[in-house]
Amino acid sequence: MSSEVAPTKQKAAVYDKPGSISTKVVEINIPEPGEGEVLVRLTHSGVCHSDLSIMTNSWRTLPNPIEPGQIGGHEGVGKIVKFGPGVSGSYGLSLGDRVGIKWVNSACKQCAACLEGMDNICFNPKISGYGSPGTFQQYVIGPANYVTPIPDGVRSDEAAPLLCAGVTVYAALKRSKAQPGQWVLISGAGGGLGHLAVQIASKGMGLRVIGVDHGSKEGIARNSGAEHFIDITKYSADGSHKAISTDVKALTPGGLGVHAAVVCVASNAAYTQALLFLRFNGTLVCVGVPEHEPKAIASAYPALLMAKHLNVTGSSIGNQRDAIETLDFASRGIIKAHIQTTTLEGLTNAFERLHSGTLEGRIVIEL
Ligand SMILES: [Zn+2]
Ligand SMILES: [Zn+2]
Repeated sequence: MSSEVAPTKQKAAVYDKPGSISTKVVEINIPEPGEGEVLVRLTHSGVCHSDLSIMTNSWRTLPNPIEPGQIGGHEGVGKIVKFGPGVSGSYGLSLGDRVGIKWVNSACKQCAACLEGMDNICFNPKISGYGSPGTFQQYVIGPANYVTPIPDGVRSDEAAPLLCAGVTVYAALKRSKAQPGQWVLISGAGGGLGHLAVQIASKGMGLRVIGVDHGSKEGIARNSGAEHFIDITKYSADGSHKAISTDVKALTPGGLGVHAAVVCVASNAAYTQALLFLRFNGTLVCVGVPEHEPKAIASAYPALLMAKHLNVTGSSIGNQRDAIETLDFASRGIIKAHIQTTTLEGLTNAFERLHSGTLEGRIVIEL
């Protein structure tokens, strides 16, 4: 028996004024793991653009706005400190194991989507940081059968962004069906998702990458493996799509365009542009969730889709297998998240920087 008394209180950051960028650090009880669950002492959590959208109620497609007091966050890494009933000896987990908590905190494993291996779009999920308490706290509950093992050799702070940003772009690149040697365009190439997309595409999957982003992010995009970079700020926001697509296509063999475009930014305009970058039989993968009133992709004329045999698909995070494979890329040194760390108290400021659109890589909270 340990003489140490287990703590009962913890720090958490809550959204105190949903609809605006504001968080407050509070003291709350440490939760108890139930049947089949583990308690994780988090050491790190990434800060994702989705958290910002949820906090500010910017996603009109979500069923319900959040309530004040919601704990956000869905890129958590920590150590298992307690088993709920039924976990010991059943899941290959040990106390002290490092694990990750994802956007889908738990999947039902029984719905039609889960049965087809798409647990990322489970019909009965618990979502970290939306409805369920997220990872902007020191202790979180996760299901023993769905936490993601963190391989030795991957630092916890660098693992955090891989659990959403990394998994998301890896799954999206798979859905793009791009083959080694082919061209893929990454929109938002210097951001939290984009820089990992560029790394996985170029170093992990043998794709050739054109990055698009603010000019200030050219360095991180190129360092991540982009062969070419297009500075979006050099094109006016209105009526300039043609010029940008001309420049993108000029970078590809025969001026045909890219085999796939993965849009990692939450911008309607980026989607409208990206469809025009595609080569015949090319695929647009929607990843960044546009904010405010949902708009259709303005360039998606049926005649264009038909004439060029274009494909438009969406991708939402990734399944458990994608998560394990993404972390394996990291353990082999193929991807490395570009991070800046801060504290729970610095979370509001982190969101403000994320909102500005000029943040390079990912902010990670040390817990
Ligand atoms: Zn996310
Ligand atoms: Zn399910």
